[in-house]
Amino acid sequence: MFFRYLAGLVDAWLAVARFGRTAWRALPGDLMGLLVMRACAIPGISREVASGSTSAGLVEHPNAGRYLDHASIPIRAQTLGHYVFARERLSPELVEHELEHVRQWARLGPLFLPAYLASSLAALMRRRHPYSANRFEVAARRRAYGPIDAPANSERGIERAAHFIPKP
Ligand SMILES: [Zn+2]
Repeated sequence: MFFRYLAGLVDAWLAVARFGRTAWRALPGDLMGLLVMRACAIPGISREVASGSTSAGLVEHPNAGRYLDHASIPIRAQTLGHYVFARERLSPELVEHELEHVRQWARLGPLFLPAYLASSLAALMRRRHPYSANRFEVAARRRAYGPIDAPANSERGIERAAHFIPKP
């Protein structure tokens, strides 16, 4: 009797923890993703991808440009929660890159955007490129291309930062 009660409590706790993890990521990342989808009149995700325990909904649609064009630098893709926005079909490397951002969103939840901006600011203060030397981008690049390729602050590093479109 007591053990059944205990097992019930553990079950309830696990359910709350699962819900908490989902809510942590959903606010604000997934919510922003859904709002962008709605605002850009995108009907839904184009495909679902997974790597390990991480899954993402790819939103590859020309209308995503309506959102991506507002970025301060030219970008090919952006991750909001577990949604990845792009104007066209993403390459496998870019999917790997963005999946790392999905993991970062899942880990940091509402703290992700402030932490990302803080990392860009820290890079600027060290006179490094605010995008390519951003620690979240370095981690994503490493995930997509391996550890030794593309030192963060090199020209090649900037180029290899897959969702950044280099100037022609
Ligand atoms: Zn990135």
